[in-house]
Amino acid sequence: MRWSRGPAAGLAVGCAAILALTAGVLPAKAQAPPSSRFVVVIDAAHGGADAGGRLSSGQLEKNVTLELSVRLRSLLAARGIAVTTTRESDIDVDAVRRAEIANHARAGACLSLHASETGSGIHLFTSSLAPTQPARFEAWKTAQGAWISRSLALAGAINFALLHAGFDVTLSRTALTAVDSMTCPALALEVAPARGADGKVTAEPDDATYQASVANALASALLEWRMEGRQP
Ligand SMILES: [Zn+2]
Repeated sequence: MRWSRGPAAGLAVGCAAILALTAGVLPAKAQAPPSSRFVVVIDAAHGGADAGGRLSSGQLEKNVTLELSVRLRSLLAARGIAVTTTRESDIDVDAVRRAEIANHARAGACLSLHASETGSGIHLFTSSLAPTQPARFEAWKTAQGAWISRSLALAGAINFALLHAGFDVTLSRTALTAVDSMTCPALALEVAPARGADGKVTAEPDDATYQASVANALASALLEWRMEGRQP
């Protein structure tokens, strides 16, 4: 993901996956009783003609996000957590479809995965939409507004697990086209290189061991998140 950092307006996302959405409405899900089945939606960003960024290793972002998606999916499955993915191969999936998949699954959490050569550690992005009350019909482009507080709580839980596992973590708010249309706790997670104290890269985002550590911390966080959601 190439995040172009704007001035006071916060972060403007330059990701090719962030597409213009057609106007529309969708039924509100925020007031529906929570499903007893906890589903995590893993969204490997980019794919097909949209390669995303290119790492210094030459690897394309779309391949790195898919690798991480596969790793996380198998770790969650091993922990008994149901998973839905937005793609399993190198295919085009537009932002509307990604949100549709998450919303149809009534996800307990949705993670949109990116990778970048910029910065260090893990970057967590929550939607910059203002919180709204759940409405009978949510505007498609801003449906995430009713879920902001849950998404921030999810970001907090994941931040905690990543810090505990020794990762550098950066938390930000930004406009995220797919996530902004999701009616579930959702965030974008960008894997940047691991760096030592001198700033030198110690692991690239496509490093298998690094990815496995990230996926492990995420799986632990999501297990905790599921238990938290079950409490009255
Ligand atoms: Zn990206």
